[in-house]
Amino acid sequence: MAEKKKGGLKELSPITIYKNLPKTNCKECGQENCMAFATKIVNREVDLDACKPLLKPENAKQYALLSELLKPAVKEVTIGIGDKAKKIGGKLVMYRHEFTYKNPTAIAIDVTDEMPESEVVSRVQKTDNFSYEYIGNTLKLDLIAVRSTSENADKFKACVKKVSETTQLPLILVALNPAIAEAGLMAAPKARPLLYAATTTNWKEMAELAIMYDAPLVASAPNDLNALISLAKTLQEYGVKDIVLDPGTFANDGLADTLNNFTMLRRAATKGGEELAGLPLIGIPMVAWANKGDLADDLVKWRESYLASMLITRFADAIILHSNDGWSLLPTVVLRQNIYTDPRKPVAVEPGLKVFGTPDENSPVMFTSNFALTFYTVASDIESSKTNAYLIVVDAEGAAIDAGVAGRKLTAEKIADAIKASGIENKVKHRKIISPGKASRISGEIEELSGWKVLVGPRDSSEIAKYVIDKWQP
Ligand code: SF4
Repeated sequence: MAEKKKGGLKELSPITIYKNLPKTNCKECGQENCMAFATKIVNREVDLDACKPLLKPENAKQYALLSELLKPAVKEVTIGIGDKAKKIGGKLVMYRHEFTYKNPTAIAIDVTDEMPESEVVSRVQKTDNFSYEYIGNTLKLDLIAVRSTSENADKFKACVKKVSETTQLPLILVALNPAIAEAGLMAAPKARPLLYAATTTNWKEMAELAIMYDAPLVASAPNDLNALISLAKTLQEYGVKDIVLDPGTFANDGLADTLNNFTMLRRAATKGGEELAGLPLIGIPMVAWANKGDLADDLVKWRESYLASMLITRFADAIILHSNDGWSLLPTVVLRQNIYTDPRKPVAVEPGLKVFGTPDENSPVMFTSNFALTFYTVASDIESSKTNAYLIVVDAEGAAIDAGVAGRKLTAEKIADAIKASGIENKVKHRKIISPGKASRISGEIEELSGWKVLVGPRDSSEIAKYVIDKWQP
């Protein structure tokens, strides 16, 4: 069957997949039958390798055929080894509204071999320990980029060794001189670091290193896409298996060219099916520091941060940053999180009863929707005010309060059912529930269906603590 291409995503039918499965309905994949597995495969909800019978030698031809059909427009490349190995690329589409993006942009923080050892260790540890809770997700950093600025092989080797001893995070080794790059590889011989970079002048030596150490390799040709594609082709033909493209990152006047190059490559891969353009892209926002001039450090950090944001939205699969201040990293990791969530699914939390502090039988009871942003805002306001309370999280299909009420996703029936299911009636002796101000118009209906008295609370959860102090009487 001929498969259509739409926006780089092959429109596969479950039947095409099914025809090439072993069709024994053995359930080893965890699905009811082969057809159910085929449907999940088409929706990219399971991996082909979950069908173990398909991995047997007698099914090799079908496996190869299915792998080819399911191949993403952008190749997936793994940096590092073990639990913390980072996969980049693997994108099926150009835009996230077409299909959920895979493999969030990997963020690297740099160290150099000219930094004092204590600074290297502290930067690596800070990167390793970076953690930010954002609507139920823990946002982390992914890689360390070790840069040779000394142009001294021994110094580079010692720096890579120190970094490898300090962290399990995968590495990017940045050295254009092959002898220095090899010294770095010798300090982390089986760590599969990303090697940066092969250029039109050093490509052969770098390709040999990449093959010898089984390391992915960046092909770099700043602002010259023809040279970049030709370089990638040469490396591939030479035997390099995993290649990442660096079309160049330019701050200031070169910004338009930077974004244009990234976009053209991703378009060629996803819309045009061009295989060599379909390699992961690396951006280097830390170039902002190279053009620093008289600018104050904080302004450079801000510039680096917006460059990172632009590259994340414009298809970068990995980026290297220098600033490791929380205030400049937060917009970057939050933006990445928002872009890589499934746009078809509202971000929701588990409904049910949540307990704050040490409430007793006279403590206030409130309800809210299960939209993650609403829940975490309300929860954080209750927690920070140290209010002892019960909060019933109602399944509003991930809608916020006002949208949920307007769209009949947060209804009086659901709220009454949630009150009953929560078991709150056995925990408090009163029958009063505080409603968010934005759900005031269904308070009468809730009272009728639940038998609980509804107190209309504030529209903004930051006023909950004051409301409880001023108005709550069990
Ligand atoms: Fe079919 Fe493979 Fe699943 Fe068995 S494991 S049911 S053969 S898809």
